[in-house]
Amino acid sequence: MPQPGTPTTTVLVVEDEPLINQAVGDRMRAEGHTVVSAYDGPGAVAAFQEHRPDLVVLDVMLPGFDGLEVCRRIQQQRPVPVLMLTARDDEADVLVGLGVGADDYLTKPFRMRELVARVAALLRRVERAQQLVRESAERPQGVLELGALRIDAGARRTWLHGEELHLTPTEFDLLGALAAVPGQVRTRERLLADVWGWDGGAGATRTVDSHVKALRAKIGPERVRTVHGVGYALETR
Ligand code: CA
Repeated sequence: MPQPGTPTTTVLVVEDEPLINQAVGDRMRAEGHTVVSAYDGPGAVAAFQEHRPDLVVLDVMLPGFDGLEVCRRIQQQRPVPVLMLTARDDEADVLVGLGVGADDYLTKPFRMRELVARVAALLRRVERAQQLVRESAERPQGVLELGALRIDAGARRTWLHGEELHLTPTEFDLLGALAAVPGQVRTRERLLADVWGWDGGAGATRTVDSHVKALRAKIGPERVRTVHGVGYALETR
């Protein structure tokens, strides 16, 4: 249960399988969150508008319209952290490539403990991002120029050859983590910790790979160097 005086977090759980929906909802309640449930695409968008959740757990395959469409529609209204539930491991690659704005992925079947850890990490990330915004409002931050790439950390904006890029929040955080040490390799584990806020187990680094792929598609594949078996580095040219 939350401490007295601590504002509770509202989690929207979108899943058409009643047993999973119920189980996830129960566990989120046990963690002290307020839970709103939806069972199809249109219901999810309506619940999002009505309850203004702080985080969304979103199944991909849904009646009405699917989780990708739900993600697009709600992110257009207000940026919100989204944890997507996928049926297959390789689906995360496809989803990240589509750039619908989900922040993390969990493959079914998953352990409740894993879900709780991911939700907690996403919420910590939002808190940290809000803190960074507050801090950057207090002291103006510099603009970083790396070859044709221009990154304004304070405003969270990026340009390539003078043209503004539209990066998702996760892509921006990933670019920021790499740009913090230009030319130097960042391990995938370190990126997981810095960008996603969790130290994942086996298979967790796939999240990093998927988002690097999406980032490369926007800033140019040659700008992010792969150091095989280790991690990634941002080229300084
Ligand atoms: Ca489903």
